Amino acid sequence: MTAAPTVENVVIVGTGCAGLTAAIYTGRANLRPLVIEGTLPGGQLTTTSEVENFPGFPEGVDGFTLMQNLRQQAAKFGTRYESGLVQGLDTASHPYTLKLADREIKARAIIIATGASPRLTGVPGEKELYGGKGVTTCATCDGAFYRNMEVAVIGGGDSAAEEALFLTRFASKVYLVHRRDSLRASKIMAERATSHPKIQMVWNSVPVAVEGIAQGSVSGLRVKDTQSGAESILPVKGVFVAIGHVPNTEPFKGAVDTDEQGYFKPVTGSQVRTRTPGVYVAGDCADHVFRQAITAAGMGCQAAIETERWLAEHGD
Ligand code: NAP
Repeated sequence: MTAAPTVENVVIVGTGCAGLTAAIYTGRANLRPLVIEGTLPGGQLTTTSEVENFPGFPEGVDGFTLMQNLRQQAAKFGTRYESGLVQGLDTASHPYTLKLADREIKARAIIIATGASPRLTGVPGEKELYGGKGVTTCATCDGAFYRNMEVAVIGGGDSAAEEALFLTRFASKVYLVHRRDSLRASKIMAERATSHPKIQMVWNSVPVAVEGIAQGSVSGLRVKDTQSGAESILPVKGVFVAIGHVPNTEPFKGAVDTDEQGYFKPVTGSQVRTRTPGVYVAGDCADHVFRQAITAAGMGCQAAIETERWLAEHGD
């Protein structure tokens, strides 16, 4: 076994679709990428039961298997994996320095693919029934499992409106539960959602609990009217939480530009290039619009190809 180099060619932070696709590409380019695995190896897809919209799997594939496959595919081309939590990035001098809790890693190029974490409400039952048991944060991924069933969407922004509208294709009825009496969503989305015959607005209401822990699947959503204090149970089989995402960008603040919502902000004209030469971003940490496995993989590919070209010119 050869010793690890003291300066890595490229370090990829994150093991979701973006990070592992970047690893496959930089691995095949003989760059021997080092991938840092954080607290959720495999990323958000590992929390989804079945993925039906990733191209190439006509029968669908479960999220965990897909991510295991990507991981093995990257390993085959020389990717190395280390566990660790990145706490900071110093780009004052090149090679750059990634600061982990227990060590530092020097790298010529860095691809940050740390993803975003869906914000959850924290009510009882939500965590217990998350991922394949009725609570989810992705209508595009899981909506088709709720054909002819009643479902609830929690939230009042564009995501909630979009998820509710998407779900009307499958569900018999969609309750849109919002804590205020008007949607935050853009006017056009709000109008579409509130006027849709299959969507019933549940205004001024907050979730209190997701019912169904005993049987292991969602049997209802208990909500409280914030004005009267009255509680009721919506008879739903699916609960879609759409109250925003938190991009995992905090450790890189200062070194990489972020927008007002905390997402990485690539330079104009690129989805993945940052203002710091040799530092790229990919996936949901830099994308609050599409947030799909395949779009994250596409960004990982772009970041890898840009890295390869940049290292060829400026690597030393
Ligand atoms: P968002 O705009 O931040 O909306 C989050 C919603 O969840 C708000 O209505 C908020 O209520 C509610 N909420 C937050 N915490 C809650 C809690 N603990 N319990 C109950 N409700 C809670 O997030 P988003 O909808 O994900 O959108 C994020 C960004 O992406 C926005 O800029 C949006 O325009 C954009 N986006 C655009 C599109 C599109 O153009 N098609 C689609 C999706 C997202 P309050 O209203 O009371 O604060």
